[in-house]
Amino acid sequence: MSANPHLLDRLATLTSIRDLELLEFSLLKTVYELFRPEQVTMLKYDSDGEIRFSMRYGHDGCHESHRSGRHRDLDQPEVLSALRMARRISAPYHSRLANGNSLSAFPVLDFQVLSVCLIVESRRPGAPNDVRLVQGLLQIYRNFCQLIEDAQRDQLTGLLNRKTFDESIQRVIGMSAALQFPMIEGERRQLPDTEVSYWLGLIDIDNFKLVNDSLGHIYGDEVLLLLSQIMRDSFRESDLLFRFGGEEFVVITENIDIQGAKTAFERFRLAVEKFNFPQVGQVTVSFGAVEVHAGDVVHAVLDKADKALYFAKQHGKNRVCFYDELLEQGQIQPTQSFMNQEAELF
Ligand code: GH3
Ligand code: MG
Ligand code: MG
Repeated sequence: MSANPHLLDRLATLTSIRDLELLEFSLLKTVYELFRPEQVTMLKYDSDGEIRFSMRYGHDGCHESHRSGRHRDLDQPEVLSALRMARRISAPYHSRLANGNSLSAFPVLDFQVLSVCLIVESRRPGAPNDVRLVQGLLQIYRNFCQLIEDAQRDQLTGLLNRKTFDESIQRVIGMSAALQFPMIEGERRQLPDTEVSYWLGLIDIDNFKLVNDSLGHIYGDEVLLLLSQIMRDSFRESDLLFRFGGEEFVVITENIDIQGAKTAFERFRLAVEKFNFPQVGQVTVSFGAVEVHAGDVVHAVLDKADKALYFAKQHGKNRVCFYDELLEQGQIQPTQSFMNQEAELF
């Protein structure tokens, strides 16, 4: 098997791919073409063990299923128990299906929010060499996921970085209401999709220059780090948290209405206000918040959030201001980019 030139070709292809979904598809195709099992399936499941995503490659091609769809064959008790066992022993687990086929479950990744497992169903049990080869292919997949994970995060705080923000906001804006974040998805309430809306909060630390000037950059960095921790503790796993740059952060949260968004943003603002930062004492943050609609223009959304943030800074800091509320109250004028959009339309 190791001298198989086909395998080398497949490896060369796998290692040149830079897109996660394509890599997952190619991984399944490689395993299928090398071993010709009945089918090979990649599963992603949450911390409750509920399957959120499956990709299956078999005689009839490749099929994907997101949480709302049916995961064919996965409700078989043998599959679910193999999955559980592989996860528990952190090693491949082999068993047999009621129809006599062999089943191998390979634990792939254990993320905080989502875990990944590979299930191979074949007529004959896999030879030890084949099992090792699958494990080698999975290691390539793992390394790739780690590279993606590293590239997505800010080094100091570990939050998602600006580059990831640019990609994520495009997805939020281009969303069907049933938007999913496949790799970083967490708990999602079972709401009719039409009731879900997304809210963006642009967060800026108040008087941060003072911290740097009086205590030095090291203390400034420590504040950024602790603040990112408070952020993680204050928001839900499914909310997207970014270090936007310098001492600015962004949160994108999924809420039913402005009241829900207000509660979430206020909870964080208060948590920061109450926290005693070592040597520094009290630190506060200001928020500019805006609802994100399907089809919005990114810079227009950011302009609105920025305008609301500017208002918060001009009116005492340590507060959350919503763009639409300020507009309704006549406290601010529509942003320039918004007016340009209108001008282009008419
Ligand atoms: P305001 O309340 O108006 O936001 O005042 P501010 O002092 O926070 O705002 P300003 O924009 O004047 O200062 C931001 C400061 O943030 C300037 C810079 O020294 C500091 N800063 C930006 N990035 C970093 C970083 O990565 N580490 C540290 N320690 N400081 C940073
Ligand atoms: Mg700033
Ligand atoms: Mg600031």
